[in-house]
Amino acid sequence: MSNQSLGLSDALHAYLLEHGTCEPDVMRRLREETARHPKSNMQIAPEQGQFMALLVRMLGARRTLEIGTFTGYSALAVARTLPDTDDAQLVACDVSEEYTQVARRYWRETDVADKIDLRIAPALDTLNELLDDDQAGSFDFAFIDADKTSYDAYYERSLDLVRPGGLIALDNMFRGGNVTDPPPDDESTRAIDALNRKIAGDERVRVSMVPIADGLTLALKKR
Ligand code: CA
Repeated sequence: MSNQSLGLSDALHAYLLEHGTCEPDVMRRLREETARHPKSNMQIAPEQGQFMALLVRMLGARRTLEIGTFTGYSALAVARTLPDTDDAQLVACDVSEEYTQVARRYWRETDVADKIDLRIAPALDTLNELLDDDQAGSFDFAFIDADKTSYDAYYERSLDLVRPGGLIALDNMFRGGNVTDPPPDDESTRAIDALNRKIAGDERVRVSMVPIADGLTLALKKR
């Protein structure tokens, strides 16, 4: 999966980064370290981080959820926009101690580390715990970017956890372009294609599939 917006020439992408994003130094260094990682394509594109940060600001979000944290770039992009209030929080779900150690190292350099509540566990367990803890409807924003065959379950839990008027963003909805003709043996792409079809007709949300990075679907929970 590409972590640069699909279909942009290298020159236009470079122009976008130079004139369309303003990435703090700590995020640039985190991105550059992650680019040397064997799974670097799991990192979101900087233009996507910038876009999600703007969305979260527009929502006036205080409580946000992230499913799939990896080395922490997207969490940092979002957490930086949260207000300095006691309830400002980003609950970050990931299964990897190894990857999230990189995340923690960079988060600690910033003043938002205390706002990020990293839960190392299968995300479904964490989401179910939040629901059992009466936190349904208490989040403003959720970002889903983890194992693709579980996306539908993450989406359903997120729909319960965000408030009416809250936003769910789902990453990699293009699957590198493969959704137009999912290979029979590619379970992940087939799962995303099925979810794209489901969300397009989902009466509970208002939807826009945005062709940024590898396709970012925005689903706004109806009031
Ligand atoms: Ca992704």
